[in-house]
Amino acid sequence: MSKEIIQIRDLKVHYPVRSGFWNRITDYVRAVDGINLTINEGETYGLIGESGSGKSTTGKAIVGVEKVTAGSIIYKGKDITKASNRRRLNYNKDVQMIFQDSMSSLNPRKRIEDIIAEPIRNFENLTTDQERDRVQELLDIVGMPGDAIYKFPHEFSGGQRQRIGVARAVATNPKLIVADEPTSALDLSVQAQVLNFMKHIQQQYDIAYLFISHDLGVIRHMSENIAIMNRGRLVEVGTKQDIYNNPVHIYTKRLLAAIPRVDVEHREEHKKHRLAVEAEYQNDQKKWYDKDGRVFPLQKVSPTHYVAEPASEVANLKESN
Ligand code: ADP
Repeated sequence: MSKEIIQIRDLKVHYPVRSGFWNRITDYVRAVDGINLTINEGETYGLIGESGSGKSTTGKAIVGVEKVTAGSIIYKGKDITKASNRRRLNYNKDVQMIFQDSMSSLNPRKRIEDIIAEPIRNFENLTTDQERDRVQELLDIVGMPGDAIYKFPHEFSGGQRQRIGVARAVATNPKLIVADEPTSALDLSVQAQVLNFMKHIQQQYDIAYLFISHDLGVIRHMSENIAIMNRGRLVEVGTKQDIYNNPVHIYTKRLLAAIPRVDVEHREEHKKHRLAVEAEYQNDQKKWYDKDGRVFPLQKVSPTHYVAEPASEVANLKESN
């Protein structure tokens, strides 16, 4: 039985929208609007959705760089949103983030040594020599040459910078890393390398990932459990098999249908399927979203598989299974 590392309960992040002469709050962007997630130790949990669905905001709220409007983040049995400073500091050490765009997330004026050492300095008191050894070790772990420590971020390729971002994220021996589109800006061949060494590091150090991506191919390669996000909520949650072999929500089907097929003999058939799913998505909004266009609450379809549907639809589904 796998052990839970973090539980996200009814998480909401709403951004105020101001307008008019008095610059008053007139509305809210419900970027994250009540989501629940449980991530187990050492697993990769995939979070998929189109741009604007709320994935990044979820990730940022979990690592604490975005303010939580409501809900709880339970880590080691305690709600971090209400934790003392000391507990919060421990949490900040245990939960790290890797960003998509390493060019803007790595300080361009700092040498690699300082970039990687920064999180260590926040949490540990090492001598200069100990610190340098640790940085060298981290560079070695991510497959970078030792002399990289004297260089600046712009002296590296995108793939190498992502490796440096990973070295920085693992510097504090974290238990969970939120990886927000870590390979989306990279060429396909480099993407595969970075994904593989992320997996390797995960196994070696028993790190859990919340792996955020719009790319279902990448998520399939990386994740055991998957959540599909749409309009600030989750539309479907399940194991990799549930999602890829038995998708239920029209939004999930639409994302899957959008994956290009390389096999020529099935291409026509796939195109027809994609068009049919797209037509269903466009025409059947009433069935899949409530009268305000919001995603329904999740309903249990099987012990591992949850779908956002009106209860009546799920009852039909269970009968037909
Ligand atoms: P994703 O990562 O899935 O692309 P985001 O979490 O970045 O989605 O954004 C979700 C929604 O929240 C979008 O509509 C976006 O415009 C909005 N949003 C994100 N950050 C802010 C912010 N700081 N202020 C206002 N709205 C924001």
